[in-house]
Amino acid sequence: MTKDELRLALSEINLPKFRADQVFSWLHQKGVSSFDEMTNISKDLRQALSKKFEIRSCAIETKRVSKEDGTIKYLFRLFDGEYIESVLMKYKYGYSLCVSTQVGCRMGCKFCASTLGGVIRDLSASEILSQIHVAQNDENVRVSHVVLMGMGEPFDNFENVKRFLFLANSEDALGLSMRNISLSTCGIVPKIYELMDMNLQLTLSVSLHAPNDKIRSALMPINKKYNVSELIKACRDYVNKTSRRISFEYSMISGVNDSDECAEELSKLLKGMLCHVNLIPVNNVRENNFVKSNDKQLKKFVSILEKNSVNVTVRRTLGKDIEASCGQLRKKHIASEGRDES
Ligand code: SAH
Repeated sequence: MTKDELRLALSEINLPKFRADQVFSWLHQKGVSSFDEMTNISKDLRQALSKKFEIRSCAIETKRVSKEDGTIKYLFRLFDGEYIESVLMKYKYGYSLCVSTQVGCRMGCKFCASTLGGVIRDLSASEILSQIHVAQNDENVRVSHVVLMGMGEPFDNFENVKRFLFLANSEDALGLSMRNISLSTCGIVPKIYELMDMNLQLTLSVSLHAPNDKIRSALMPINKKYNVSELIKACRDYVNKTSRRISFEYSMISGVNDSDECAEELSKLLKGMLCHVNLIPVNNVRENNFVKSNDKQLKKFVSILEKNSVNVTVRRTLGKDIEASCGQLRKKHIASEGRDES
């Protein structure tokens, strides 16, 4: 709930504004996960609150810490027994958390572990926020950057994601700067326009992964609905309207999308656009046979983009030893519980 919504809800049980503000601050600044932790509120009142309301936070089911780089992967258990993943990464500029927006995903990208069992359900705004609070409290750090790049497609749960953005950005809540939030999409074109009209300062990341329809449709079913030229047109419109640089994610898969021709075609596609290409050596997923590009081809690809004046970096791999990439840990955990969702 926003502060106004909470004030209204609590006024219905005759609680004054200042009580609502106290509760709001416990939830959104201290990130508590139970009414019992709200120690400046009387016990009777805490009981009354817990009878009428519920705090749907995430419980840490497992936590893995990378020995190589300190990256932390959380497997969170939700109120209904479902699982999601978040990854906490330490950078020079602070802590960044990669959060999930759905349990599973229905986009069906061929290289991604999150989508193997389809989508189970959307996350509420509270469940997206809670990932940040629980990680912050667990590690006693402040998360300064958030990327919506965990499990799920943010635009497939856009109403809750919008509510999350509004709350996370509120001064009297987490106070996260929009500029420190990235939203990643597989390319749902109408939602790119909807986001564009909101004129936010966040960073839009687009999972492109291929420079043409033939390769992209084979990797990402969404391309059959919104093809490469429609997607790139939307991206150009987005940049023109918001003046914000778009980030393109491109997973490098050996023999699939990493040829010199692909690099040339990609350069042409993005020519003159205010954008940045993030090359990600594809992570191996047990259920598919994709292999990451070798270093030589990766370097060649970079040099072709650079020669064509396209901004490009290769994403550093973090948390290799803890199965930090999308959906890997949840998949393994539910298999170990004897649940098979696929
Ligand atoms: N649904 C959103 C956000 C979640 S995925 C989207 O599609 O953008 C976050 C990023 O990880 C996306 O770019 C996705 O394509 C990429 N990704 C998924 N599985 C991967 C894998 N096995 N190797 C490399 N990148 C992967």
